[in-house]
Amino acid sequence: MKKYIAPIAMFIIFETVAVTLWLTMDNLFYLLNFSYIGMSIALGIFLFIRKYQHARRITQLLVGLYMLLYLGLICHENMQIEGFWYYLFTGVFEAATIHYAVAKIFGPLVFGRGWCGYACWTAMVLDFLPYKTPQSPRKTFGWIRYFTFAMSFAFVAALFLAHVGHIETIMFWSFIIGNILYYTVGILLAFACKDNRAFCKYICPITVFLKPMSYFSLFRVTCDKSKCVSCGKCQKVCPMDVDITDNSRKRKNGTECILCFECTKNCPKNALK
Ligand code: SF4
Ligand code: SF4
Ligand code: SF4
Repeated sequence: MKKYIAPIAMFIIFETVAVTLWLTMDNLFYLLNFSYIGMSIALGIFLFIRKYQHARRITQLLVGLYMLLYLGLICHENMQIEGFWYYLFTGVFEAATIHYAVAKIFGPLVFGRGWCGYACWTAMVLDFLPYKTPQSPRKTFGWIRYFTFAMSFAFVAALFLAHVGHIETIMFWSFIIGNILYYTVGILLAFACKDNRAFCKYICPITVFLKPMSYFSLFRVTCDKSKCVSCGKCQKVCPMDVDITDNSRKRKNGTECILCFECTKNCPKNALK
């Protein structure tokens, strides 16, 4: 049983959040929502411990499809960054605001960019593409993320400043159009750069939150230098170009780590934990 402490602990953490939000917000949705996400993550960790090679993808599909199809398309919740700005402007602490607080702003202080590895519905599709590890050198246009971040803010701010009506409907359609745009750009860029995660590296506005917060992440992969033989295998299999053999927080592309554990799985000396 000892080796299953991690999935049990993860389930308990999410269940605590679920019950707390259910009781404080008096809304059963939070109990069901966070219980489902906690169960999906716990299942992924359980399968990973059982050495099932698609463990991460199972969690990614369970959470990603739920958020995209159920929360987005059926419940009309815009969980994209525009939805976050929308709820922030309205002063309502629910849906996208809670989602961002838990998964993308404060959560990364504990679990880094786990969201990007196990839950994001954009990456859920991009990870099906053929370039699982980058086949070309990293590009220098990561600044685009600040532009897309500013544009998402300006778009929602303009709706409020212009007192546009039916903002809820606009938010729903911006979720649909935004996702189509993300998938189109993400897929084209993946093929152009020969890198499935090119969108994550250069375009995604959410990384403006994720990168600085995950710098301080409690949970991170570290290297036992006494075991490492500098074979370079970990860097070859890393989708995010992280220099995981450097244990400092300033390691190259350290804030890009999505905790996929490809490096730990492939290290011939079991030097990565
Ligand atoms: S960087 Fe953006 S698109 Fe990529 S996985 Fe993270 S949140 Fe999703
Ligand atoms: S794969 Fe393992 S042994 Fe090889 S460089 Fe990476 S940490 Fe060191
Ligand atoms: S391969 Fe290792 S360093 Fe690279 S993203 Fe996955 S967990 Fe992080």
